[in-house]
Amino acid sequence: MLSAKDLSKKYATFTVVNNVSLDVAKGEIVSITGPSGAGKSTLLHLLGGLDKPDSGKVLIDGTDLLQLPAKKQARFRNANIGFVFQFHHLLPEFSAIENVCVPLWIKGVSKKEAMEQATEMLGIVGLSHRLGNKPSELSGGEQQRVAIARALVTRPAVVMADEPTGNLDSENAHLVHKLFVDLRDKLGQTFVMITHNDALAQMTDRTLMMQDGRIVNKRTNR
Ligand code: ADP
Ligand code: ADP
Repeated sequence: MLSAKDLSKKYATFTVVNNVSLDVAKGEIVSITGPSGAGKSTLLHLLGGLDKPDSGKVLIDGTDLLQLPAKKQARFRNANIGFVFQFHHLLPEFSAIENVCVPLWIKGVSKKEAMEQATEMLGIVGLSHRLGNKPSELSGGEQQRVAIARALVTRPAVVMADEPTGNLDSENAHLVHKLFVDLRDKLGQTFVMITHNDALAQMTDRTLMMQDGRIVNKRTNR
């Protein structure tokens, strides 16, 4: 479902991603680990079309992301890729449910329909009792679950997560990873996630280890 071929990216003369190819199947959860500066975030940005490679290509469900004109590319990304970052960038003035509604509103979904879908997704992440709370009234783990609900509410084919649990304690980090596995089981969701934590990487199907811009090792976990 996600396929990258010979991706490379340089900053000035420094090659950050060096000829990386990978394939991720539908419903697979793949983790990327490796030391700081290995190029993990840059690779994830290339896979999600947030950044342009110097060479190589990215296919999502057979669509060549980079061949699309800018506007179509943005639309394709909104429809097919969800992003979760370490710092969730929730809108502070909006309640949990309003934050989750935002991507639906952008898509033009009616207000009533958006509320229904956001309510359902917040239920899936275990926050049915927090719909009306603002981010400042939620714990870090709850805020991250709102961000995950927001990334998933449009049912994107693939979710890209850059250290989604990096600012959570180990109990909450574990819960969020379990949630990803549940969502995959329930919705057939595909995930690519960066993590520094090997115990968490082991909860994913497959781990790619990156070093100096290359995938230096691959491991099947389950
Ligand atoms: P990780 O995010 O994997 O823990 P770091 O925080 O050390 O590792 O990541 C290296 C950082 O380099 C990334 O956070 C990336 O955002 C950052 N970075 C972004 N822009 C630049 C830049 N212009 N020059 C150098 N580094 C940059
Ligand atoms: P990781 O996520 O594995 O820590 P990154 O992909 O964030 O690695 O960064 C890899 C290297 O690329 C780092 O040395 C970082 O400083 C550099 N880098 C990242 N983004 C930029 C940028 N926008 N401009 C220049 N250098 C960057």
